[in-house]
Amino acid sequence: MNTRGFVRKTRQREVILHVLRSTKSHPTADWVYQEVRKEMPNVSLGTIYRNLRTLTEMGEALELSYGSTYSRFDGNPENHYHFVCEACGEVIDLDIPVIAQLEANVSVQAKVEVTHHRLEFYGRCEHCKQTDSQQEAN
Ligand code: ZN
Ligand code: MN
Repeated sequence: MNTRGFVRKTRQREVILHVLRSTKSHPTADWVYQEVRKEMPNVSLGTIYRNLRTLTEMGEALELSYGSTYSRFDGNPENHYHFVCEACGEVIDLDIPVIAQLEANVSVQAKVEVTHHRLEFYGRCEHCKQTDSQQEAN
């Protein structure tokens, strides 16, 4: 790769990471694509996917895969927890210290070394919960 190609690729990755870190919405690749295009009109969806994968491998971002639906991406690579709304798909960050303590508790109680774990919460977000109860009342 020549120098110009390298500079362009680095710049693309920087813009993608910036877009990812500018939102708390845990966006899909397609959302990132629409945002990055505002700054780089010639970027392709394939480039977005490739860079999101690279950023994930580099430990700069997290990929959140939810089975059959599209992956979401998170600009916060630190281990943290999410609530997923099954009605609208919203992904909310959880900051609950007792959850973070779980891994240590498992290590001690089972006398094992835990290298990683996954924990996800599902249900109805605040908005969808209200919509549900309004429909029930009708
Ligand atoms: Zn919802
Ligand atoms: Mn998150």
